[in-house]
Amino acid sequence: MKRFDMIAIGGGSGGIATMNRAAEYGAKVAVIEGHFLGGTCVNIGCVPKKLMWYGAQIAEAFHHYGPEYGFSADTVTFDFETLKKNRDAYIERARRSYKGSFERNKVEVIEGFARFVDPHTVEVNGEQIYADKIVIATGAKPVLPSIPGGEYASISDDVFAWEKLPHSVAVIGAGYIAVEMAGVLHSLGVQTDLFVRRDRPLRRFDSYITDALVAEMQQVGLALHSHKIPQRIEKNMDDSLTIYFEDGSHHTAEKILWAVGRRANIEDLNLKAIGITTTSSGHIAVNEFQETSIPHIYALGDVTGEKELTPVAIKAGRTLSERLFNGKTDAKMDYHFIPTVVFSHPAIGTIGYSQEEAEREFGAEQVKVYTAAFTSMYTALGNHRQAARFKLVTTGAEEKIIGLHGIGYGVDEMIQGFAVAIKMGATKADFDATVAIHPTGAEEFVTMR
Ligand code: FAD
Ligand code: NDP
Repeated sequence: MKRFDMIAIGGGSGGIATMNRAAEYGAKVAVIEGHFLGGTCVNIGCVPKKLMWYGAQIAEAFHHYGPEYGFSADTVTFDFETLKKNRDAYIERARRSYKGSFERNKVEVIEGFARFVDPHTVEVNGEQIYADKIVIATGAKPVLPSIPGGEYASISDDVFAWEKLPHSVAVIGAGYIAVEMAGVLHSLGVQTDLFVRRDRPLRRFDSYITDALVAEMQQVGLALHSHKIPQRIEKNMDDSLTIYFEDGSHHTAEKILWAVGRRANIEDLNLKAIGITTTSSGHIAVNEFQETSIPHIYALGDVTGEKELTPVAIKAGRTLSERLFNGKTDAKMDYHFIPTVVFSHPAIGTIGYSQEEAEREFGAEQVKVYTAAFTSMYTALGNHRQAARFKLVTTGAEEKIIGLHGIGYGVDEMIQGFAVAIKMGATKADFDATVAIHPTGAEEFVTMR
């Protein structure tokens, strides 16, 4: 029987990072992966999405801004197959680079699906593997609402397999994936409608930002339909799909895309063999040290339901290996002030509390906000002026910054550095004392009054 100090079940962002770091400290480790190395992010998530978002940016540059900057867009054509081919080749290179780093670090890769036999043993392709420590990093998969005909609709995984773009898509959902997919498809020329079951998408984000997103969608003709609760889907003779909503309305499109959240990948792990504790949402329960209810079994990343972001899975994994193999006995992942970007059009960046959350937590009298609204200079010459809106949320007499939010051109590349300042406890006075970089959008964050 193969024996390891530690194995990861799942070769996605979390499993790879954990095992590479453990191997650097000399641990004998393996990653078990049932599909593709790189997991969701590299194969069917962040990476293909971002490349399509870049493609959408280029489309917008040609159509909205090129002519006013003096470029003729008359002969511009778009071939989705080329984008897909080059995108897939990029992903293949990324997968190969993982294999390279595993070889360098002496991390063994075991291809196949793992299921527990007992708390120290898993079975892969009929072979049993023993490990002192096991990390469950099996990620998540899209939720499929169980309405009649729900199975006719696509999920985000399918979008990345499309060989050609559909003529029309109805996106159902209100989170990151719904907003990102709707924006990319619309910008690439697909007739796109976004259906949310409440009043707006991204409801947990600061409403100053989502107001601007909704206004922008209206301006560019990305139809947003609110208060639409899906009831059933029917397939038509021409293979198009019609979705019916509880309010009696319906909508027909070539494809319907579910983007209504994700659930943990745990059902094939044979967890009953080890009796591990799961949460009411079906995630693996962990404490702040990524420890599960079973000593020596850990879980991290999307399978725990904690902030489903790649850098979170990576940091949780590296921190765990630092604790287990490098003597940093108190090391644990800090989930406060995690910066995140929604690759919408334009991008949204957010760190910390929204104004609404801050007022609920600290009381409205303790919270002071600063805002800036302007037109992104890049778009000022174009046929579509794009609004930017920034907000700082501060608390207490010292005006400690506990929230930073922005929507606008370039926000995606703007907020990482601000996250460092906020993590260090920056106040409004610190921002005021910082000299602006001109002319940029980012300077608005340090010149608000
Ligand atoms: P995963 O990356 O999902 O890896 C889990 C792996 O486990 C998979 O490869 C799976 O095949 C494997 N596995 C499952 N069960 C078994 C088993 N029994 N045996 C062996 N292997 C198994 N995050 C960002 O930070 N930025 C983004 O821009 C972003 N965009 C996204 C876009 C989309 C469309 C989606 C779906 C997600 C996006 N995310 C983004 C989220 C990000 O992809 C996840 O948070 C991240 O991949 C989680 O990493 P993980 O290691 O927990 O799981
Ligand atoms: P989210 O959890 O972000 O959003 C799903 C939303 O869909 C819910 O919040 C809900 O919004 C709505 N919804 C839920 N059920 C239904 C239903 N039955 N019918 C209609 N609407 C419904 O999930 P996503 O799948 O978009 O993304 C999963 C996670 O992946 C994200 O939370 C994020 O952590 C990560 N991700 C990160 C990205 C990035 O960093 N750029 C990009 C993509 C994903 P409401 O309650 O308002 O109706």
